[in-house]
Amino acid sequence: MDPAPTDLYSLTQPELRSLVGSWGLSPVHAARIWRYLYLGLASSFGEFGTLPPRVRDRLAAETRIGNLPVATETESNDGFTRKFLLGLGDGERIETVLMRYTGRATACVSSQAGCAMGCVFCATGQMGYRRNLSTAEIVAQVVHVARILGAAGEPRRLRNVVFMGMGEPLQNYSAVMKAASILLDPSGLGLSAERITLSTVGVAPGIRRMADEASPVRLAVSLHAATQEGRLALIPVARKWPLDDLMDACRHYCSTLGRRILFELTLIDGRNDSEEDAHAVGRLIRGLPAQVNLIPLNPTPGYAGAPAANEAARRFQKILSDGYGLRSTVRQRRGIDIAAGCGQLATPD
Ligand code: SAH
Ligand code: SF4
Repeated sequence: MDPAPTDLYSLTQPELRSLVGSWGLSPVHAARIWRYLYLGLASSFGEFGTLPPRVRDRLAAETRIGNLPVATETESNDGFTRKFLLGLGDGERIETVLMRYTGRATACVSSQAGCAMGCVFCATGQMGYRRNLSTAEIVAQVVHVARILGAAGEPRRLRNVVFMGMGEPLQNYSAVMKAASILLDPSGLGLSAERITLSTVGVAPGIRRMADEASPVRLAVSLHAATQEGRLALIPVARKWPLDDLMDACRHYCSTLGRRILFELTLIDGRNDSEEDAHAVGRLIRGLPAQVNLIPLNPTPGYAGAPAANEAARRFQKILSDGYGLRSTVRQRRGIDIAAGCGQLATPD
């Protein structure tokens, strides 16, 4: 039986070069193929017009372009957010979100189908874990979003990629980092490292690994509460990576790479949004090069909590800045009407 064709989205440019070289063809073709894939955003070999037929035939015989078919697509009422339900080869499905409220577009991509971390307020956690995504499946999501922008006459508008869709990216470390290196390739999509952000629930060993390997990807950490008990009530896996261990990993990351961390707090009315909660967060992260992003809770089917009131979020911000010199932002609530907000992504059975 022939081996399964190689998905071109799984390869870095040097890997593509050696693949083409291994066919006895000049590796110079690789640069052109790369441009068709990531500048032309070609979805079929028919679009590789100027490639010599023998190269194209070999590509068609031994490789594939792993486009992810769109099962459904929804657009928010305000037109700023579009959500895509994409099909994977084995029948699993994932969600990818395009956001463009900043004038520049952001792709919010999934790293896993489902998630094993079980955060109580998250729709992905509520659906459970299905599997890790491959590098190709991650890259294909970004290419899909880039094509949508291209069709809208904005081919170069994709500026930001955030690993904040379904799944815990540091539980799929290698595939995520390889995908990031493909997105960063300057002769392809050419994203800049400051504009790729990975959000983790707090996988301390993964954070240390990012530091030790000098990962170019920016780090966001979902903190939610400043005590071990407070976190544990919201994030069951805080038992595995307790707060002390997590903060130790964060300090290691900042001191090794000299970079900031973005701490995220999903703010829940009456749960983690009090003045005392804000002071506890300030005391915990004071001294680290940190910024804070407050995310008022978005509704999910499996959790009854309510979002923090606007005044509570403002008060939280003021305490962080006046008391601890910490900058913070409140995430805009967008895409809620199509369940495309933080923590709302899930796929039906
Ligand atoms: N697994 C990663 C990244 C995906 S979730 C993580 O947990 O960090 C992206 C962000 O959305 C996280 O900060 C997460 O805590 C937050 N989030 C999850 N459910 C939410 C909800 N219902 N409302 C608001 N934010 C939520
Ligand atoms: Fe997984 Fe993140 Fe959702 Fe927690 S918040 S269940 S880690 S996707």
